[in-house]
Parts: sequence; C-alpha cells; structure tokens
Amino acid sequence: MFDPNCIFCNIVEGEIPSTKVYEDDMCLAFRDINPLAPTHVLVIPKTHIESCAELTEEHEALIGHIFTVIAKIARDLGLDNGFRVVSNAGLEAGQTVPHLHFHILAGRPMSAKMV
Ligand code: 5GP
Ligand code: ZN
Repeated sequence: MFDPNCIFCNIVEGEIPSTKVYEDDMCLAFRDINPLAPTHVLVIPKTHIESCAELTEEHEALIGHIFTVIAKIARDLGLDNGFRVVSNAGLEAGQTVPHLHFHILAGRPMSAKMV
C-alpha cells in the first residue's frame, strides 16, 4: 500500500531521493538524513504500515525478513563492534515519521538504557 502523503512511501517510490544501502522486493534500507551516530541506517517495509503498534500475524514473515536484512546490513557495513536496532511507535516514543522503520545505530558507545 502506498500513501502519497508519506515521506517514506515517497522514498520507496523514488519520488524523494535517498542514499540506499539495501533493497529487495519487501524492504528498503537507506541512510538517515540526520544521523545520530556515525552509522545510522533506516530499514523500512515497502508497504505502508504506520508503526510496530499496527503489526498483526500477517506481518510475521515480513518482520522476520527485515531482521534478517538488518543482520546482513550489519555484516556488510562491518558493524563488528555492535549496533543498536530501535523502532519508535507513537508520540511518547518520539516517532516523527508514521511509516514503520527500524533504526540501525552504530559507531559510538551507547547507553545500555536509552537510545
Ligand atoms: P523517528 O523519529 O520517526 O523514529 O525517525 C524518523 C527518522 O527519519 C529520523 O531519524 C529522521 O532523521 C529521518 N528522516 C526524516 N525524513 C527523512 C528523509 O526525507 N530522508 C531520510 N533519509 N531520512 C529522513
Ligand atoms: Zn508510508
């Protein structure tokens, strides 16, 4: 599903440019425009899902696939010292783009408690 008002749907469609790291038929990974760590990649499903709060059983294969892709990206980018995966859902979590995305953050020490 494509939402014409959604930034990340428009990135999937190529209407908004991005620096791609990985792509297949289910998902896309690209560099965050405002990186919070030396490596900051966003992994998104190509279909519009608002956040991880919207997930149901029908999405299990997709989410499993995305995490396999996250592991591949981490290997390909040489994130051997570790990385963090974050997905914000809703207002209090600070979600600013309402299209499900997983942040991959690496390259600086991170607190064990917070992002
Ligand atoms: P959230 O705060 O919703 O968890 O994360 C949204 C992320 O998307 C932010 O880190 C923000 O920098 C990134 N972002 C917002 N708009 C764009 C864009 O047009 N291009 C790219 N590459 N990243 C974006
Ligand atoms: Zn979208």
